[in-house]
Amino acid sequence: MRKNIVAGNWKMNNDLQETERLLNDLLVYDVPENVSVIVAPTFTNLVSANTMLKDSTIEVAAQNMHQADNGAFTGEISAAMLKSAGVNTVILGHSERRAYFWETNELLATKVDAALKNEMTLIYCFGEELEDRKNGNHFNIVKEQLEEGICHIAEAEWKNVILAYEPVWAIGTGETASPEQAQEMHEFIRNTILDTYNEEVAQGVSILYGGSVKPNNAQEIFGKKDVDGGLIGGAALDAENFMAIVNAF
Ligand code: PEP
Repeated sequence: MRKNIVAGNWKMNNDLQETERLLNDLLVYDVPENVSVIVAPTFTNLVSANTMLKDSTIEVAAQNMHQADNGAFTGEISAAMLKSAGVNTVILGHSERRAYFWETNELLATKVDAALKNEMTLIYCFGEELEDRKNGNHFNIVKEQLEEGICHIAEAEWKNVILAYEPVWAIGTGETASPEQAQEMHEFIRNTILDTYNEEVAQGVSILYGGSVKPNNAQEIFGKKDVDGGLIGGAALDAENFMAIVNAF
């Protein structure tokens, strides 16, 4: 049985005090047993988030990391550093990292390897841009992002992978893929994994949808057969909205 997962990507929002306030707001709620909940504060707030969530089932993730173990990479953070701060999960390949920090599938493949080598769970993000969808090229783009970025890993490593399909045109725009569009792509993604690996890997991996998921559309999207939850941006910055999405299964 695949895990239902809702992950909140807080991006470069919330200073320490705001982060603590949001965590306190979240801690008021019970987390349903059938959902794994993850929140991803900015680097400087990971340790205090971990401390505040130590008695909760909510896990903490980083939003990015560098692929090297250590070295002269000013401003960067390694997997080992995250692990030593108690962070065992990392988001890789978010569309903002791809667009603003030139992260390519090839680079992401090395980050994927570094995360797995350090026994971290990773959320691999990918998705087409509006132009790809308009040109009918969305399936090719997604296949390429999977093949070049993650489909080189060993079968046994998939237990530490969560996939997040996020059509770029739906992120932060208020525009959501319809539940049918999401299901169509998620089924395609699962079939791509099936073709490269096997039924066990394909059926075992959780595939999240991301792109303007809100309390009023989460239930319909999560109700689709191959959608196992969501990666949430804007709506994750408010505890009530986020927990309404967590409870949408
Ligand atoms: C995201 O940034 O991953 C995201 C899905 O954002 P939003 O929910 O705001 O569209």
